Amino acid sequence: MTQEILHKEVVIIGSGPAGLTAAIYAARADLKPLVIEGPQPGGQLTITTEVENYPGFAEGIQGPELMEQFRAQAERFGTEFLVSWIDKVDLSERPFTLYTADHTVKAETLIIASGASAKWLGIPGEAPAPHGLGGLGVSACATCDGFFFKGKKIVVVGGGDTAMEEATFLTRYASSVTVIHRRDHLRASKIMQDKAMKNEKIDFIWNTDVLEIIGTPESGVSGVRLRNNVTGEETTFDCEGVFVAIGHKPNTDMFKGWLEMDDIGYLKTNGHSMATNVPGVFACGDAQDSFYRQAITAAGTGCMAAIDAERYLDNLPVPTLTGEEVTIEGEIVTADHEAIIMPDGEVISNHADAETEGAPAGD
Ligand code: NAP
Repeated sequence: MTQEILHKEVVIIGSGPAGLTAAIYAARADLKPLVIEGPQPGGQLTITTEVENYPGFAEGIQGPELMEQFRAQAERFGTEFLVSWIDKVDLSERPFTLYTADHTVKAETLIIASGASAKWLGIPGEAPAPHGLGGLGVSACATCDGFFFKGKKIVVVGGGDTAMEEATFLTRYASSVTVIHRRDHLRASKIMQDKAMKNEKIDFIWNTDVLEIIGTPESGVSGVRLRNNVTGEETTFDCEGVFVAIGHKPNTDMFKGWLEMDDIGYLKTNGHSMATNVPGVFACGDAQDSFYRQAITAAGTGCMAAIDAERYLDNLPVPTLTGEEVTIEGEIVTADHEAIIMPDGEVISNHADAETEGAPAGD
């Protein structure tokens, strides 16, 4: 079968908030962008329910409906769409070449907005409703869904910085937050561990795997079934919400070898611009952002300042222009994240394995 060849000024990979915002702007600049949509058109918001924190919708809006609006706005100014899986890219020269099953796409400029996917445990009860309790008490985004858990007993699964951040954030709403981690010590950086461990609303269950999320579509989550992976003992823990915080995977595998990325796969952009290491290739949204990961930060920076302020008020470290991070109590995390300078000038290690006040000695 012959391949149809398309040649465009601007090709955008991904149709979530970042990709469609890029499309709206490129289309209004008369650049006739082509958006290539992957297996989840509209991105992560299409699998959420009510979105209450996207500005402009005072009464909230359903995630899928919000993405339909984004798409209609992009179409209104002449954006074209292609639903296709990209098998291979060649970024060695401009125009860049993208290969799909039916098309060869030539791009004078490329905007990568391929997003990231939350990692899931793959256990019964976790899938989105109606197959599981996803959206009915199971979530992977505390900023998005924490508000719905006022006064409730919540479980956070994971032991990294995301889990500590989500747990700390959720204490604003929850009556209690229990972090369940598969090992006896955390992967999170020391400062994030300390914040969580000092928080009276947070406790920890160690060496434990979550086997199942229990509940019904009518009443939502009622508990989790657990197994201590040292003793083998199985128990049930009652809770009304489960936040899975075991990391995200940016959808950037196809760019390995072409674009600079970190160990996890987040594309590196050039400081204050969205430029990658290949001139003409840009990256935006969750494909290059492991930190804010909000729909609105893909479309603008207003939300970033608010999250920084929230983090600061929560006494979590907030980045400064120098690359250092500071807390409201005056602790400074150095730009290389190696050390914390305490308010009295003492310098301590920020490594996860550094001695942590209140950390468990063993089990
Ligand atoms: P991460 O560092 O990879 O941690 C993932 C955690 O989930 C680990 O504790 C891991 O357990 C656990 N886990 C993974 N798969 C699991 C499974 N199948 N079942 C049970 N547990 C599982 O991911 P992250 O916390 O999202 O952080 C990613 C990067 O973003 C890190 O570099 C982090 O520093 C950064 N980040 C920074 C901040 C901040 O500074 N404020 C906030 C969020 C993220 P093990 O420990 O046993 O492997």
